[in-house]
This record gives sequence, structure tokens and C-alpha cells, in this order.
Amino acid sequence: MFNFCKEIEIIFNIIARYAQKESTPVYFVGGMVRDALMGQDIGDIDILVEGSAIDFVKGLKEACDNGFARINVHGAQNPLIDRFFIDIKSVHESFNTIKAQINGIEIDFASTREEDYPHSGCLPVVKNIGCPIRVDLKRRDFTINAIATRILMVDNTVKYELIDIYNGIEDIKQGKLRVLHDKSYNDDPTRVLRGLDFNLRFNFTFSNSDKNLIENFLKSPDRTGLSLDRVKLTLKKLFSSANRAKAAYENILLKKFYKIWCDEPEFKLEWVQRLVESAKIFNLPSEEIFLKVFFENLPANLNAAENSSNYEIYNLYKNLKTIDLALQYAIFDDKNPIFYYEKLKDIKPDLTGDDLLKQGYKQGKALGEALSRLLEEKLNSIPRS
Ligand code: ATP
Ligand code: MG
Repeated sequence: MFNFCKEIEIIFNIIARYAQKESTPVYFVGGMVRDALMGQDIGDIDILVEGSAIDFVKGLKEACDNGFARINVHGAQNPLIDRFFIDIKSVHESFNTIKAQINGIEIDFASTREEDYPHSGCLPVVKNIGCPIRVDLKRRDFTINAIATRILMVDNTVKYELIDIYNGIEDIKQGKLRVLHDKSYNDDPTRVLRGLDFNLRFNFTFSNSDKNLIENFLKSPDRTGLSLDRVKLTLKKLFSSANRAKAAYENILLKKFYKIWCDEPEFKLEWVQRLVESAKIFNLPSEEIFLKVFFENLPANLNAAENSSNYEIYNLYKNLKTIDLALQYAIFDDKNPIFYYEKLKDIKPDLTGDDLLKQGYKQGKALGEALSRLLEEKLNSIPRS
């Protein structure tokens, strides 16, 4: 059913054997199931333990330190495994999650849990850690991400058992994004943005009923308890691919997804091309530019006067951070920040202060002015292309 690489197969073999020994059901979930079913490369490996993930991983590590991985179920040496090394990276007690590196592969282990949203958009209240898998799956965003696959040992072989109570497999086939219940976008509006991400990555489209749910939610969003950090984190992921940033920005404006966090945006559709270009020109991660445009006060136009000399342009921009240069270009369609960034910013006068001192200048104002004049001359000799 799944075609994992040898390294992952070995890890799942050991996990399945330990899960059997401990009578603890263990699954992989979410994006990993979705991507594997779609034949895509899998991203993060998320393992879900029906019980305590921390106890499971610590127990597994201890067992492996005592040779568990090297001995197969019949007590013979397991020829597959010549080394099995677990390195615990971090432990999060309150959610009972644990990150480990197994044979160099990073794996997130979480305990099954329930989540409640007392207010729209707030961070969820976590409860019932170790709950049955079916209860855990209810907290998930889309049917396509609510498929769990149990990793089982049957007749000394790893078997995979799909748990698809929301018909996610059918929705993967149909390319549909469908939330699990009608309050879902209200509980967590970032699901709208996650849906947009899946739309742009895999061409999944919102089901008609999801379109209605989103439209209704956006008519009167309740932002009182909204976790802006969660919105930013979701947008950061959405915009981290420069290829998709343009379409993501256009969708957010045209479909009014910005209503998740604000009423009327100051950012404009016509900036999009330059915003995308500016990430390349100014060597910035595209998400940094877009998040700044979404959430921070926009800058005033520094537009240099016509006929400004290079030296004047240099002085106008020299104290700006690169991100602010990028915004001057993107928002005001002003090319001077590009000229400054590419041609002027690193220019130095041919002589240093020390050279001038050797020529007889004294420390003080005159020396500073002489250096400025040298810089001015040098800058003004740079051709405008
Ligand atoms: P990606 O390939 O982008 O990592 P993913 O679906 O794995 O996609 P993650 O952010 O890694 O996304 O989340 C893992 C799983 O956790 C999801 O598949 C989903 O089941 C669940 N999940 C993540 N974010 C939410 C959310 N905001 N609401 C509900 N469930 C979520
Ligand atoms: Mg993931």
C-alpha cells in the first residue's frame, strides 16, 4: 500500500514491534498519509501514539539501548538492523509530544488528544491526552488530513491499516477540501489559509459547502480571541514558497481572506508583481516581505526628487533596512532603491581617513567633509543604467 524508503521501513518495523510488545496502538497521520497516498514525497513524519508519546519513545529508546532492535521476534539476530540509534531532541510535557531523531531521521511523536475552541480563532484548549484515535481525528482540519494509518506487526511483517472515518481517501481522489464540521473555520480561521496552501500546492479545491462556510464566516468574523501569532505562522508557511506567493497574495485579496485578521486592507492587489520581484532583487525571503505588508505600518514614500544626484539618492536610503528598500520599490514603483542597493550602497571613497591624515589633514570637521566630498565624487561617477 505504501512505498517507503528502506530507512523508514526499518524504523516502522521497530516501532511496530515495540507497539505490539507494549499493546499501544501507533499511527502515522495527517500530511504524511495524504502525501504517501498521493504518491508524493513525504514531508514531516508525524507519529501518533494512542497513549503517552513521551513514555512510548523513552521506553523504545531504553529497549533499543538494550538490543531490542537487533533481536527479532523469534529471538534471533535481525539481519536488517545493524544499528538503531534514537536521539531524543525535545520533550513537551504539557501536550505530551516528543521529537526524536531515529537513525538520523527526525520524527515528531504526539499523543492522541482532543482540542476545544472556547473562542473563535484562539489557541485550542488541549484535553483528554491519550484518547482513542477516532476522538483525536475530530480535531483535524480537512478530511484529506484526517486519515490515520495504524502501523501493525502481523506475522512478523509490518502491516498498514487505514482509518478513514471522514472519507478522506475519496476527497483526495476528487481533489476536494472539506472540513469535518460546520464550526471548523469559525473555530480556527487559519484553516482557510491552510486550504489555500493545499489549493496552490496540490490543486485541491474547496467543496461547495466549504465555500459557503468560508463566505459566511468572513461576513462577520469574531476577532476578539484571535491568535494573530497563529495567523502569522500559517501565512509564513504559505508565503515561504516564492513560486506560490503571487497566487497566495492575489487569492487573499480577491477572496477577502484578509478578513480573518482585518476589515479593510491597506495593501493593494497591483503591488503583487513587484512584491514578488523585490524578494529576488533584495535577497529577502518572500515571506518576510509579505508578512511586513500584511501586519506592519506601511512606510511613507521617500521618492527622490527628479534629477537627484547619486549622492543624494545614497543619503536618502543609507539608513534604511533592506526590507524597507524593498517596500519602497514594491509599494511606490520607485526604482531608485534598486539602484541604491545594487550600485551605490557598498561604494567607499578611494582614500580613507588615515590616508588624509597622512596627507596633512587634522582630525575634525574638515576631514569629515573631505571624506564626504570624496564619496560624493565617487558616487556621482557611477553611471545610471
Ligand atoms: P504539510 O505538508 O504542509 O506539512 P500537513 O497537513 O502535514 O501539511 P502540518 O502543519 O504538518 O500540515 O500538520 C500536521 C497535521 O496536523 C495536519 O495534517 C492536520 O491533520 C493537523 N493540523 C495542522 N494544523 C491544523 C489546524 N490548524 N487545524 C486542524 N488540524 C490541523
Ligand atoms: Mg506536515
